[in-house]
Amino acid sequence: MYRFAPSPTRNLHIGNLRVAIFNYICAKQSGDMFIVRIEDCNKAKNIEGKDQEILDILAIFGISYDALYYQSENFKYHLQFASSLVDKKKAFACFCTQEELKTDKYSGKCLHVSDDELLNNNLPFTIRIKKPEDTIHFTDTIKGNMSFTSSDVDSFVIMNQDKYPTYNFACATDDMIQGIKYIIRGEDHISNTPKQELIRKSIGYEEEIKYAHLPIILNSNGKKMSKDDEGSSVKWFLDQGYMPEAIMNYLILLGNKVPTEIFSFTEALTWFELKNISKSSEKFDIDKLRFINREHIKLVEDVELSKRIGYSCASIGKLAKLYTQEASTTANIKDKIDTIFALKSSDEYKEGLGKLKTIVKDAPYFEKFDEFKKYLEKKSELKGKNFLIPLQILLTGKKSGPDLAEIYPLIKNYLQEIAK
Ligand code: GLU
Repeated sequence: MYRFAPSPTRNLHIGNLRVAIFNYICAKQSGDMFIVRIEDCNKAKNIEGKDQEILDILAIFGISYDALYYQSENFKYHLQFASSLVDKKKAFACFCTQEELKTDKYSGKCLHVSDDELLNNNLPFTIRIKKPEDTIHFTDTIKGNMSFTSSDVDSFVIMNQDKYPTYNFACATDDMIQGIKYIIRGEDHISNTPKQELIRKSIGYEEEIKYAHLPIILNSNGKKMSKDDEGSSVKWFLDQGYMPEAIMNYLILLGNKVPTEIFSFTEALTWFELKNISKSSEKFDIDKLRFINREHIKLVEDVELSKRIGYSCASIGKLAKLYTQEASTTANIKDKIDTIFALKSSDEYKEGLGKLKTIVKDAPYFEKFDEFKKYLEKKSELKGKNFLIPLQILLTGKKSGPDLAEIYPLIKNYLQEIAK
């Protein structure tokens, strides 16, 4: 069983999406189930509607899941597990104040509170799990063998004062309850792994869980891409006109050994292996994503592409592909095509443009651009650039752009709408 466990506390970040994609691929390849667990245990930080936004984005990327859970549905189990750990003396109540906890390491002060002291005490308390006796080892498919000493892990809080679980406790017990066998997540969670291993071992869960921690993605300055930065959210990339198949392609390609640079998700399923993912962080290369987006735009079926930019015919899809010569996102291409259909004006070429508009309105249908051009040239009596530039403006809304001979076959059926 694989899982993707987003927190509804912020936008879905490009790194989170990569985690979801990798889990989904591994589940598909192995025939195992894939679940989504919304980690909503931090009530103060949850943002209303973010869960649905995340699920909608997964749907846009074609990532489907076998079951959807909300972590908060398991609160009763978290409480039961915590109280059984206290019973078994594997966890203890901690009455330390904020002031006392200001030091780097937990002092261990409450480890030896007697039962009497515990019962005759009205102070708020957290529950801490006792630090492990030995070093905790685990193997990570990407990072190799990892080990954390007892003092790295320390005695840490599993239940807050309000008796809601901490992230580590809820996550570790949910992974156990839900029978997760392989955890693929960002490397920012690597120091949580020994804590979660300790929690499950202390409860008595012996099933082995495998791990793969994906290196963080760096921005162009070589700094960690901020999770809170608008510009690294998946929604931002979609809004900019990067297509889901291109984003997916790029995220699978990043820091990976791939047989070819441009591929579909179905193709990636045949060769993807987690062990090929580089151990070190990679910079997010927007130029590469632009290139990949252009290549995927060319691969989308014409009518489908046309629909993605608000039209619905094969010729407009073909026109969109032609515009990959000068634009790399569907949003930019849409702008260019909308301009073709917009009202044309030009101060510089006002007269010529006006003349051509009138002529086109009554012109017969021409199959070939050359014939159309000759007809307009003769009728308008315009010459050289005084003819060519207004013609370019009339047909594209711009003084320059793709070759009109290439555009004409794709727009010839819309000339009356365009020449206005
Ligand atoms: N909810 C955590 C996050 O969004 C992920 C936890 C996990 O994958 O274990 O960062």
